[in-house]
Amino acid sequence: MAGSELLPLEDARARILEDVLPLRPESMPLSEALGHVLSEEVTALLTLPPWDNSAMDGFAVRSEDVATASPEAPVNLAVVGEVAAGHEPEASVVPGTAMRVLTGAILPPGADAVVKVEDTDAPAGLAELPQVVAVRAAVAPGKDVRRAGDDMHQGDHLLEAGTRVTPAVVAVVAAAGHARVNVHRLPRIGIMSTGDELTPLGEALGPASIPDSNGESIAAQIRAAGGEPVRLGIAPDDRAVVRERLLEGILAADALVVTGGVSVGAHDVVKEVFREIGTLDIWRVAIQPGKPLAYGSAPRPDGGYCLLFGLPGNPVSSYVTFELIVRPVVRRLRGEDPDGGRLRVRARLADDVRKSAARRAFVRIRLEADAAGGFTARLAGSQGSHVLSALAVADGLAVIPEGQALTPAGTEVEVIRLDVEVTR
Ligand code: AMP
Ligand code: MG
Repeated sequence: MAGSELLPLEDARARILEDVLPLRPESMPLSEALGHVLSEEVTALLTLPPWDNSAMDGFAVRSEDVATASPEAPVNLAVVGEVAAGHEPEASVVPGTAMRVLTGAILPPGADAVVKVEDTDAPAGLAELPQVVAVRAAVAPGKDVRRAGDDMHQGDHLLEAGTRVTPAVVAVVAAAGHARVNVHRLPRIGIMSTGDELTPLGEALGPASIPDSNGESIAAQIRAAGGEPVRLGIAPDDRAVVRERLLEGILAADALVVTGGVSVGAHDVVKEVFREIGTLDIWRVAIQPGKPLAYGSAPRPDGGYCLLFGLPGNPVSSYVTFELIVRPVVRRLRGEDPDGGRLRVRARLADDVRKSAARRAFVRIRLEADAAGGFTARLAGSQGSHVLSALAVADGLAVIPEGQALTPAGTEVEVIRLDVEVTR
């Protein structure tokens, strides 16, 4: 249980992340692994390419045979056969001979270079194999030859544990000879919105109701962070109902995110329920927006536990606290570096920023390129924590440190870019 002092963001995050371990690894077919995170390093089962091979359609030659070749003085070589990708060469290239090769074909013994078809008198494409080829260009040893092992050697460590499986990672793992990979299970994150005023999307609004936007935005943030949202719907500001729903939710999820009802109002029942079903820490985190945060965990009948997050109901606050506090948890559960994925850049403020001196502010901004090759950060509309419209057009959050109320235009600040995701 915490007091009323403001807890620095780092402390809140560190205390939460102490409780979080990556989810159990499982083996799955590579074809299903996209978006999961490797739980073990991936090593090469084979050397790739397995043999020297041709990078071009052309003729495999001995480079010394064609050292004098030019368009004016071509060198004629006897063609001793052809080799295509997927076939073994049936002859060697001995002095005075060449073998027609297609891209990816094993370089025949004796040859040390490839002359591309354009540098010969042979027609390109599916022409009949000529008996003699006139070579019109000299080639250095190794020209247009892809060497065995250029990409990987058997036993090489290719990818570290903690790597997200992207389409490019799928390519590498497949090329390295694996049909299955070991990855962490994806976290299932329950979402519940609380508030008598909330109406599910698509339903008619009453005179005192608003759409449940947090349910949607948090689900989207969970997906974007690589988790699986589990929707628990909307609960009224009623302790018994919230409790009943959360008890169901902890069975289905690794963590639950509840929005609304965490401040000190008479209808703010979430903290009470966390305490009833498990443990509760309540912190006033020194960030703006997003001060009140309830965190705890609830035991499950299977012996596991479910992490509980109570985020403020104001839509911008719930978005920002998810980004700063829950997203790292989702990432660690997935097996990823909790702090990865985001690009942080320096930018010069285009506007004055006013805020509470005691808290670190995360200000929605748009980035513009400046003349010196850096960035300018311009406020993206109203910064009220109930004003969502500025969020959708923001490129990132400018971090305005604790300690000052006014940060003048021109100050250089750090920006967390929300518009791009990086692989580490
Ligand atoms: P609360 O944290 O419950 O006091 O809510 C703070 C403000 O956020 C109120 O104006 C609520 O109407 C609004 N709010 C709470 N939950 C949601 C939600 N799921 N979607 C949209 N607005 C919400
Ligand atoms: Mg409420």
